Amino acid sequence: MNLTKPHPIHPQNTQLTAESKTNLSASTPWVDVAIVGAGAAGLMAAYFAAREGATTLALDGASRLGAKILISGGGRCNVTHERVRAEDFNGSNRNLVSKVLRSFGVHDAIAFFRDLGVELKREETGKLFPVTDRAATVLDALVGAVGRAGAEIRTASRVVSVAPIGEGFAVETVTGSLRARRIVLSTGGLSIPKSGSDGAGYAMAQALGQSVTPTLPALVPLLLESGHWLTALSGVSCDATLELRDARGRVRQRVQGSMLLTHFGLSGPAVLDMSRHWIAASSGGEAAIVANFVPGEDFESVEAWIVAEAKAGPRRTLLNLVRSRLSDRLADGLLREGASVAPDTALGRLARDDRRRVVHALTALPLPIAGNRGYAFAEVTAGGVPLDEVDVTTMESKRCRGLFLCGEILDVDGRIGGFNFQWAWASGRVAGSAAGKI
Ligand SMILES: Cc1cc2nc3c(=O)[nH]c(=O)nc-3n(C[C@H](O)[C@H](O)[C@H](O)COP(=O)(O)OP(=O)(O)OC[C@H]3O[C@@H](n4cnc5c(N)ncnc54)[C@H](O)[C@@H]3O)c2cc1C
Repeated sequence: MNLTKPHPIHPQNTQLTAESKTNLSASTPWVDVAIVGAGAAGLMAAYFAAREGATTLALDGASRLGAKILISGGGRCNVTHERVRAEDFNGSNRNLVSKVLRSFGVHDAIAFFRDLGVELKREETGKLFPVTDRAATVLDALVGAVGRAGAEIRTASRVVSVAPIGEGFAVETVTGSLRARRIVLSTGGLSIPKSGSDGAGYAMAQALGQSVTPTLPALVPLLLESGHWLTALSGVSCDATLELRDARGRVRQRVQGSMLLTHFGLSGPAVLDMSRHWIAASSGGEAAIVANFVPGEDFESVEAWIVAEAKAGPRRTLLNLVRSRLSDRLADGLLREGASVAPDTALGRLARDDRRRVVHALTALPLPIAGNRGYAFAEVTAGGVPLDEVDVTTMESKRCRGLFLCGEILDVDGRIGGFNFQWAWASGRVAGSAAGKI
């Protein structure tokens, strides 16, 4: 790659920063496109920028690339989902999200990875994984493709600052300076900071004129009040419908899926999906999560079921009945602790008030959430640069010409199931292709 070739002045960039403010000199190398952050979105952008013929340099602060791709999907990398819609995302305006997703859809992602030699398989849930069940297959294929397209990737090259200069941008890294005609900012969010994404990109975006909406952990396990009886059921997994209710009891969000009880509280897909809603709601006022352990049923139907079963078999115990729907440990806990009713109570001897408490515990158990496990355990970050600050047909900033943004640094977070990677692939593809057209 020719890093010394100067490029013509980029007319849209104003002469904002004097070169004397940076460490630039006449011999400071040039690239057409500098990608800041070579995670999922940055690698995608690097590939497509290089394919356009632009000299492309992807800089990453980590010494080993792709930490998040490697740990994703339990080491198997849930690459995408068979059906991805704007409704699967939160944060910025969904019309804008939809425009980006349409420009590189699920079928494009499947074909893209197939071309790189990565076949995907669909699982029952609709999630798509590499047939190898190895996340490294995805990372290796991407890194190989970026190299073959002619882009250079530099690891251990943390970017410290990006400043506009007349012809483009001055980029300071821990190992030296360079100039770039265009910048793709793809530094991710704040989740799992030890993977390399520690939020530094937000400050860079702000220095370049972007705003950043408040950030919070998303897809993160939730903590129950210390010593809550559910924590004693650590290891139990169940299906549940979770409702987020506001101070007036109105349902603000509803999620159905699998929930895992742990020593600290709650995890599993339904809880992870609910987490960002609870965190956002509880920071602005009172919010409660209520669990229904018999999804699809309500108070009336469960009460009718118990009454009917009591008539059919009055000597049958309550535990025997409830464990026909739930696991033994959960049934026992819900009766004993959730409803304060002895599990060995015969159905025929169940008092009306006791029955109603049982039904309440099964269909609307309040979960006293005490907090969340924070960015160290969050799969994504909610919040970031609002999408309406970029032109979604190119991902170029409307506030700083020559700056492109993609991936998790933007105010877009998907639910669990491959949606966040689809966002990274799609937005990275759009940003890279546009930035590479010099
Ligand atoms: C445990 C876990 C499991 C997940 N599983 C899935 C899954 O199966 N499916 C799914 O769709 N999503 C999953 N996600 C979410 C997904 O990994 C992210 O949404 C996605 O990686 C975001 O891509 P990105 O490129 O925007 O950011 P990142 O992947 O975070 O990449 C950002 C890169 O920028 C680099 N960087 C940051 N600051 C600088 C700087 N100043 N200078 C240079 N480089 C910098 C970082 O080192 C990093 O390499 C998971 C996340 C986690 C944490």
